Amino acid sequence: MSIASVPTASRYSKVSVITCAVLVVFHIMAVAACWSFTWTNLAVALFLYWVSIGLGISMGYHRLHTHRGFKTSRLFEYFLAICGTLTLEGGPMFWVATHRKHHQHSDQDLDPHTPRVNAFWAHIGWILFGEAGHNDTERMAKYAPDLAKDPFYRWLTTYHWVPLTTVGLFLLAVGGWGMVNWAIFLRVVVGLHSTWLVNSATHIWGRRRFATKDDSRNSWWVALLTFGEGWHNNHHAHPTSSRHGLAWYEFDVTWLELKVLKAIGVVWDVKVASISQASEEEIAA
Ligand SMILES: [Zn+2]
Ligand SMILES: [Zn+2]
Repeated sequence: MSIASVPTASRYSKVSVITCAVLVVFHIMAVAACWSFTWTNLAVALFLYWVSIGLGISMGYHRLHTHRGFKTSRLFEYFLAICGTLTLEGGPMFWVATHRKHHQHSDQDLDPHTPRVNAFWAHIGWILFGEAGHNDTERMAKYAPDLAKDPFYRWLTTYHWVPLTTVGLFLLAVGGWGMVNWAIFLRVVVGLHSTWLVNSATHIWGRRRFATKDDSRNSWWVALLTFGEGWHNNHHAHPTSSRHGLAWYEFDVTWLELKVLKAIGVVWDVKVASISQASEEEIAA
């Protein structure tokens, strides 16, 4: 299935040189990590993977900043946003604006990363060739006006690389290049591909519980890599729900963490969808 009104070739007309260069360097350094394995390096990398992808993207950028699926203090919001920048997926306004466009135009012409163009485009092509505009804070303000009102989010969107660079320099001082290769370069590359699989794989492969208008699917293996983000068909059907894995067997780490945070009063007003909430016609045959 292709999108007729935007020729695929025209999408590749503009190359984002800086993004390409940064990603090439990160991938080369990620491969170099193979020569500096230690259990400490692995443990630091796994910890930062959880902080950045689990807390930063899944709980922060996605379920909180984009969809406002729960409420929390301003301080915890800021903490989650800083965690999000550690992924190299851009600042909060960029991420939120891109993702809101994805929900508004899912698998249509204006979807930034639909696999209906092709799987490569959905996974990484839209970053390398698209008008991604990581640092274009003013343009992003149109799509994320709620975040644009906050000077901290504006600053963090423009200077999203600052926290990652700071952590990188700290790790260089305490653990040397081996630790940087593992906990910055390899960890960022794995995190990027895991997140991109939500854009590519979960709009191509998997089961559809809900007959949504887009191609979203539920994927258990993408959910394992992304702390629960792979239950993507559930999510498209109920975007504001902070719970993505709706059945008991749909493992959703972020949801479990939110239950704990709610119990101790860190988050509140948590929005939750349930399977029984779905009307008969919503359930895909
Ligand atoms: Zn989607
Ligand atoms: Zn979403």
